[in-house]
Amino acid sequence: MSNTDFALAVEDLTVSFDGFKAIDKLTLYIDRNELRVIIGPNGAGKTTLLDLICGKTKASGGSIKFKNTELTRMAEHKRVRLGIGRKFQTPSIYENLSVFQNLEVSYPAGRSVFGALAFQCTEAVKAKVQEVATDVRLADRLDTEAGLLSHGQKQWLEIGMLLMQEPELLMLDEPIAGMSARERELTAELLQRICTDRAVIVIEHDMEFVKQIAHKVTVMHQGKILAEGPMDKVQADERVIDVYLGH
Ligand code: ADP
Ligand code: MG
Repeated sequence: MSNTDFALAVEDLTVSFDGFKAIDKLTLYIDRNELRVIIGPNGAGKTTLLDLICGKTKASGGSIKFKNTELTRMAEHKRVRLGIGRKFQTPSIYENLSVFQNLEVSYPAGRSVFGALAFQCTEAVKAKVQEVATDVRLADRLDTEAGLLSHGQKQWLEIGMLLMQEPELLMLDEPIAGMSARERELTAELLQRICTDRAVIVIEHDMEFVKQIAHKVTVMHQGKILAEGPMDKVQADERVIDVYLGH
């Protein structure tokens, strides 16, 4: 496979904060339709890597190619338009709006037949809201005020808001933190469903959850990749046990 076949190709990526290299010549390739989990100790650089890919943080060196387009100097909103969606650790939903409205406002305005100025809830938008709400298990909560949802449902709603934009790369930072066991199970199913037509990167600590969802696992340590491969191989790696799993 050539480097142009990947959804995401990160090469020699580096970022320094006052001389400290939070990401240090990191190289990583993600396939289309792949669900990759990134694990590693606190401070390894996992969140910073997502910040670099979505454009929240500017790289000091190296390259990030998405669908073969160089991103490193591209503005954050342009990366969103190219198809990159990022979920942060705390959900950013509109608590006072209904589930339906939260999804509706996330529909890319440019795609509406009326354009951004005269946005109307067309049948196409309604159908998309229904489809996404079903995907994130909120189809029977469309009229509920988002603030009244459970913590897990709020997380799903935010994933839904990202799915409204049909991202080709979706990045989730610790999506199951604070969820109940049942919500974790359902989230695993949800992630498996939504990676069938896009690449998904998940940062997670819960090893049971990682085992359930990961196609491949990347272990980060001190801004570098320590190990990468299928879960059973990574779990048996002495260096991984040393710096992470052994603790
Ligand atoms: P992880 O998500 O793996 O726990 P982070 O990516 O949050 O790790 O952080 C990696 C390292 O980079 C940490 O030492 C953190 O303090 C540092 N860091 C992250 N962002 C910044 C920043 N904007 N300025 C300075 N240091 C930062
Ligand atoms: Mg983090």
